[in-house]
Amino acid sequence: MDNQPPSSTPPKFEDITLYDRDTNEPFIFTAKEQEFFWRQGFTNVPRYSPARRKEMREKRAKGKPLFNVTCKICGRVGKVLLEPPDLKDIYCETCFAETWTEYLHAHPDEWAAWEAAEQEADAKVAELQAQAAQSEE
Ligand SMILES: [Zn+2]
Repeated sequence: MDNQPPSSTPPKFEDITLYDRDTNEPFIFTAKEQEFFWRQGFTNVPRYSPARRKEMREKRAKGKPLFNVTCKICGRVGKVLLEPPDLKDIYCETCFAETWTEYLHAHPDEWAAWEAAEQEADAKVAELQAQAAQSEE
């Protein structure tokens, strides 16, 4: 049973642009990331850009107790700052991506929607990068 893909159908996610709470730097909270958040049971949207989140996570982690989590598929152990709601249902990003891909292959309609969303996300990122490049001139 452990290798079953997630059984519940995710809500429909769309890319959204968020702004870093401190620097106002825009960043895309992609449909894929929202999906990941949703599947991991996170309910908050990120308030900081991915780069700043990583930076802050590293800072916060210094000297703090961490919870060990184990990926339910590959058994890789990771550390998180907050105790996850369900320790038995943790995927590392690699296994999540694989499980999700398998699931999509079994559900061709969702696969098509997923690919379209991915392409749209890429286009949005390219558009934002072009905007950023222009405003630097
Ligand atoms: Zn894994």
